[in-house]
Amino acid sequence: MTTTYAVLSEGLEKSYGEVHALRGLDLAVPEGAVCGLLGPNGAGKTTAVRIFTTLTAPTGGRALVAGHDVTRDPGVVRRAIGVTGQYASVDGDLTGRENLRLFARLAGLRGSAGRDRADGLLERFGLGEAADRVAGTWSGGMKRRLDLAAGLITRPRVLFLDEPTTGLDPAAREQIWSAVRDLAAEGTTVLLTTQYLEEADRLADDVVVVDRGRAVATGAPAELKALIGAYAEVAVAAREALSGAAVVLDRLTGGRPALDEERLTVGVTVIDPGLTLPRIVRALDSAGVPVTDASLRPPTLDEVFLRLTRMPAARKEPVAQKENAA
Ligand code: ATP
Repeated sequence: MTTTYAVLSEGLEKSYGEVHALRGLDLAVPEGAVCGLLGPNGAGKTTAVRIFTTLTAPTGGRALVAGHDVTRDPGVVRRAIGVTGQYASVDGDLTGRENLRLFARLAGLRGSAGRDRADGLLERFGLGEAADRVAGTWSGGMKRRLDLAAGLITRPRVLFLDEPTTGLDPAAREQIWSAVRDLAAEGTTVLLTTQYLEEADRLADDVVVVDRGRAVATGAPAELKALIGAYAEVAVAAREALSGAAVVLDRLTGGRPALDEERLTVGVTVIDPGLTLPRIVRALDSAGVPVTDASLRPPTLDEVFLRLTRMPAARKEPVAQKENAA
């Protein structure tokens, strides 16, 4: 079966003089999927979104959105997409309803078609009650939902969200996540950029970790977590026992155990899935280490990210290469 991709880039490059923002970014987002572009400041995420949304031209490689080349068919691409930025694009002097009706007019929806679309989106995002107050008085979370609604006026096939929840409190973030999940359930393809690992973990089918203009790893959040295994931590009864515990954990894992002299713990990354907690505790027991507590937990995406982006260049290979669209 041939997979069709809503967003595809091959060897995408963008240089601003000496600054190479993108150095050959490969990306393949299947139709209907949510893809999280995860990376630190300056990784090139916004540059990639600007190219996909036809706001800037690549200096190398190619990018296709909804099957169309962003450089050759920018008009067709624009009609297929919605964009929500890091900063809400709403006008604080207009009411919520006026804002959305304005976006509808700009999108070419005239008369009742525009009004109905705007009113429907206000209800859908729980903004109906506040709709006739000026948006300048709204909370940050409400403005961001209005911004998201504005990006949906045209019923886009592909939605680009550039850091959609930056600066929002947990409750407002949860509301945006829920809206994104609903859109995905309806079949909209979503490409979101984020620095929040939890956001990628909660929303994305696939995460692409971007570092210095390239994808350094691609996979489902669970695959990326599996890549760096688990984290074992044991607590011991006395400070003198710390080094003994470290020796045992080093022997079992070949890792470099980290000692915490205040908490009396030793922690280490465990790659071997066969190394279970009972095996670890038995080995410590046999060595006479007085263990008071022990845990083996999956890594957070934070740990995955740090691990991937600090790996030597030779190991920075995508973990799951996607087939290109035929
Ligand atoms: P952030 O999370 O901070 O938004 P990002 O991953 O989105 O970061 P980009 O904004 O794409 O990163 O920037 C990638 C690199 O390109 C950075 O080094 C940035 O300084 C540079 N850059 C981006 N836009 C321009 C521009 N218009 N002119 C010159 N350099 C630029």
